[in-house]
Amino acid sequence: MRQKIAAGNWKMNLTLDEGLQLARYISNELDIYSDTQVILAAPYVYLKSLSDLTFPIRNLHIAAQNCHAKESGAYTGEIAIPMLKSINIEYVVIGHSERRAYFNESNAILKEKVDALIEQDMNIIFCCGEPLEVRKAEGHFDYVTEQLEASLCHLSPKQFKQVIIAYEPIWAIGTGETASPDQAQEMHAHIRSLIGEKLGREVAESTSILYGGSVKPANAQELFSMNDVDGGLVGGASLSGSSFLSIINAFS
Ligand code: PEP
Repeated sequence: MRQKIAAGNWKMNLTLDEGLQLARYISNELDIYSDTQVILAAPYVYLKSLSDLTFPIRNLHIAAQNCHAKESGAYTGEIAIPMLKSINIEYVVIGHSERRAYFNESNAILKEKVDALIEQDMNIIFCCGEPLEVRKAEGHFDYVTEQLEASLCHLSPKQFKQVIIAYEPIWAIGTGETASPDQAQEMHAHIRSLIGEKLGREVAESTSILYGGSVKPANAQELFSMNDVDGGLVGGASLSGSSFLSIINAFS
């Protein structure tokens, strides 16, 4: 059985008070007996307060939106994985298209982060996805294959248990344009078959693959009902408690 996951990516939004208020709302309204795992990816400076707040809730987790691969040292302004662990953070998002585009994060840099996170027993939400011109030229399957092969597929089946994949077509992020359920399904099926080829069927069947790109209450249920879509990574709509809650509750 694959985990159903609704992850919110706050990006660089909200003040501390607003973030705490949002997390309090989610923690109060969340069905704690549900099998859906909820993850809030928040700015670094809020992580400790959020992890203290949500710590007792079994299906609510806090994630960092990035990390540095080195354990410590002269990397001014960066955050190391042991620092995240020291405040009980268990999940880290890496490879978001905004980090790839604005901060030059290459597949090779992401591989280093993957290896460091695996070594430190952290759970990884690994983002992949193609830009519009690649989709238009019908190169999207090859593009995503390359991203996964370059940064992730070297892991062993045991290590891969720490990995969640988020397929986020760049043309659908923050644009209001969503991949159709069929477009999401065919890419998720492609990713699952690639994992099967590289790491075996059991790993492929147990890896959660999330869809990201303008998920909202109006389209979440249809997207999440697709066979290979195990949930969503949600940007804009995760900033409103009621919107995000209806996305959390959209699993049928
Ligand atoms: C994201 O930031 O990962 C994302 C998918 O954003 P949005 O839901 O706003 O498109």
